[in-house]
Amino acid sequence: MSERLRNWAGNIEFGAARVHRPGSVEQVQEIVAAAERVRVLGTGHSFNAIADTDADLLSVAGLPADIQLDAGAGTVSVAGGVRYGELARRLDAAGYALHNLGSLPHISIAGAVATGTHGSGVRLGNLATAVAGVDIVAGGGELVSLRRGDADFDGAVVALGALGAVVRITLDIQPRYRVSQYVYERLPRAQLDAHWDEIASAGYSVSLFTGWHGDTVDQVWLKRRDEDAPAPAELFGAVPADGNRHPIAIMSPENCTEQGGAPGPWHERLPHFKLEFTPSSGEELQTEYFVARADAIAAFAAVERVRDRIVPALQISEIRTIAADGMWLSPHYERDSVALHFTWVPNNDLVLGAVDALEEALAPFAPRPHWGKVFRHAPAYARGRDFAALAARLDPAGTFRNAFVERHLVGE
Ligand SMILES: Cc1cc2nc3c(=O)[nH]c(=O)nc-3n(C[C@H](O)[C@H](O)[C@H](O)COP(=O)(O)OP(=O)(O)OC[C@H]3O[C@@H](n4cnc5c(N)ncnc54)[C@H](O)[C@@H]3O)c2cc1C
Repeated sequence: MSERLRNWAGNIEFGAARVHRPGSVEQVQEIVAAAERVRVLGTGHSFNAIADTDADLLSVAGLPADIQLDAGAGTVSVAGGVRYGELARRLDAAGYALHNLGSLPHISIAGAVATGTHGSGVRLGNLATAVAGVDIVAGGGELVSLRRGDADFDGAVVALGALGAVVRITLDIQPRYRVSQYVYERLPRAQLDAHWDEIASAGYSVSLFTGWHGDTVDQVWLKRRDEDAPAPAELFGAVPADGNRHPIAIMSPENCTEQGGAPGPWHERLPHFKLEFTPSSGEELQTEYFVARADAIAAFAAVERVRDRIVPALQISEIRTIAADGMWLSPHYERDSVALHFTWVPNNDLVLGAVDALEEALAPFAPRPHWGKVFRHAPAYARGRDFAALAARLDPAGTFRNAFVERHLVGE
């Protein structure tokens, strides 16, 4: 009997005729070899139909959650279904860390990497930049290993699940470090215009939360490592919050990671939300666009000009930064980026209206959407043809294609 699955947000009902939960790499290979069309499902945290299919859906959650540390090589290798939260605890206990994390630890590593998921930090690349190797069950069911430095590697990491099922992924690690997190409130908008670079660079990782009011930015979350400069008493007119905060001011900060400057392990400060709690507001859709960091102030003004068209759908926006990388389908490909993120109310019609307004407003800045969130248009990528050629080699029959891939990578 067919089984109906939904994504985390509940806005996508997967149309799969069959759902598989293999318990071994060999079983993944058998399923792929026998399938005409298959898509891989991570933890289902994407907000669009990127993982959807009407044929076979293959969840990697049942693969043994194997984690292998190689201290000599400075890497850790994990099975395709492992989530950041699980890995972070294991790594920290062994004395190691990752360079960055997204806003919540519940997401699978392979799924996050496949869409170019990121945290924040002007010097920090997205999470896929930590990938040193991938083992992929490709189109015919054969296992292909690619390592950093291999000719195709930069095409095979942010790959939208279009090359095959990632059954093992190897990540760079570093000695564990401590982070302290500070929340400042009411950053005057004029100060942001005047000091954007200094504000974005004021910590190891900096996030701004705003409702696009035009006069102030609601909150600035600054995360600093022990060895960084001390956090300022005041941040360009923004003042320290007098207690813990949720990014949406009226919500309880209970599920947010510790603030107020108390140092703690990297993995308990870099995500905004705790592993053991429901992440974010739970009832939401999300959209995010990336533009050049140098265009940030002009892009903020462009969003403010369409504020009336986005506010009906908006819960809160987050502004983050990501360093450029060289991965072919990365939204941060060869561009130091600022991320304009929108947490929406869960109303598809309102959200699509707001998305249209944003895509018009941001068009002069050549915006690239987050692959895993709600959007209409993705631009052609400079290395898109190279990616298509790689897909034709690893998956000649197009087994891993779906409507999303055909629309955005192959053309309508
Ligand atoms: C509450 C919330 C907070 C978020 N915060 C952030 C954030 O801070 N930063 C950010 O950038 N994004 C964020 N996201 C978006 C999220 O990180 C991405 O959508 C990510 O891709 C989800 O990973 P997943 O494992 O759930 O992937 P899925 O949604 O299950 O799949 C996404 C894509 O990855 C592919 N895939 C998954 N696993 C594999 C595999 N093993 N092999 C091959 N392909 C695979 C799928 O086929 C699909 O194409 C957030 C999402 C939510 C719901």
